[in-house]
Amino acid sequence: VFDVLVVGGGPAGAAAAIYAARKGIRTGVASERFGGQVLDTMSIENFISVPETEGPRLAAQLEAHVRQYDVDIMNLQRGTALSQDADGVTTIELESGASVRGRTVVLATGARWRQMGVPGEDQYRNKGVAYCPHCDGPLFKGKRVAVIGGGNSGVEAAIDLAGLVAHVTLVEFDGQLRADEVLQRKLRSLPNVRIITSAQTTEVLGDGKRVTGLVYRDRAGGDSHRVELEGVFVQIGLLPNTEWLKGTLELTPRGEIVVDDAGRTSLPGVFAAGDATTVPYKQIVIAMGEGAKAALSAFDHLIRTSSP
Ligand code: FAD
Repeated sequence: VFDVLVVGGGPAGAAAAIYAARKGIRTGVASERFGGQVLDTMSIENFISVPETEGPRLAAQLEAHVRQYDVDIMNLQRGTALSQDADGVTTIELESGASVRGRTVVLATGARWRQMGVPGEDQYRNKGVAYCPHCDGPLFKGKRVAVIGGGNSGVEAAIDLAGLVAHVTLVEFDGQLRADEVLQRKLRSLPNVRIITSAQTTEVLGDGKRVTGLVYRDRAGGDSHRVELEGVFVQIGLLPNTEWLKGTLELTPRGEIVVDDAGRTSLPGVFAAGDATTVPYKQIVIAMGEGAKAALSAFDHLIRTSSP
């Protein structure tokens, strides 16, 4: 039985593992893919104190840092169920059929951006197709971009980007935007934004190297239109990797693990951190801070509940 069992090996899980191991307690990390979303990222320019790095490089450094400690790293392990004994020990069942147990658990399974699933999207990922305006917005300074999605995150992204880029086209599938009225009003007041509703994005265009445009179908008339641009920000939802936890602890309707300000979930001894939780703003530096916090909370739980 681990003292702290971390599920997920992204920035949140790596930070939790290091903070736990530094307490000299038995620490394990079970993760599907060590590095998490960082592995899919190219340029990272907002990880404070590191002016510029690349995702795969940061992921390798995360793993190397964790390996400096006595941490049991279990890679290619996907959690499929969580249960708790009467004595408070938590069991995580793995897809492989095995199971791992922890006196405390830190859930750090992250999230994934919902994709459009259209031709060109995968091909031009990180080559004009982006998912995170806080991360990649500055790369499009002075250029033309589209934001796909007219919910709160799409409209917030469009307002944010309009202050950085030359022009923003907001493309919404529905007949109207779904964002809060105050955001819509702000968006409509901006001179360099065009809003297109009832529009289904059907293709991301490129020259083989970079994005050059997108194609959308007018859902009312049925005809297709082309927009010339250099970037496409997809903002149609961030899906927490928490489907397997449904029914065991409190999740929001969107599937985020509800945590308090110490990283505690609704189950005693089970903590959570990073993009999988209700903590706002999904960023590396935030996930790491939350991971450290969850591990310290787990340690605090252990010293309060263990017999002397
Ligand atoms: P994740 O990184 O998602 O890691 C989750 C971990 O859990 C992975 O190891 C995964 O394999 C594992 N896992 C998932 N489900 C299970 C399961 N059932 N069982 C076991 N393991 C599981 N942020 C920035 O700050 N700056 C940037 O420049 C930046 N650029 C980005 C670019 C892209 C393309 C993307 C996709 C994201 C970017 N982000 C950026 C966001 C940043 O990557 C995330 O906020 C951060 O990685 C979240 O860390 P996390 O540890 O919570 O989750």
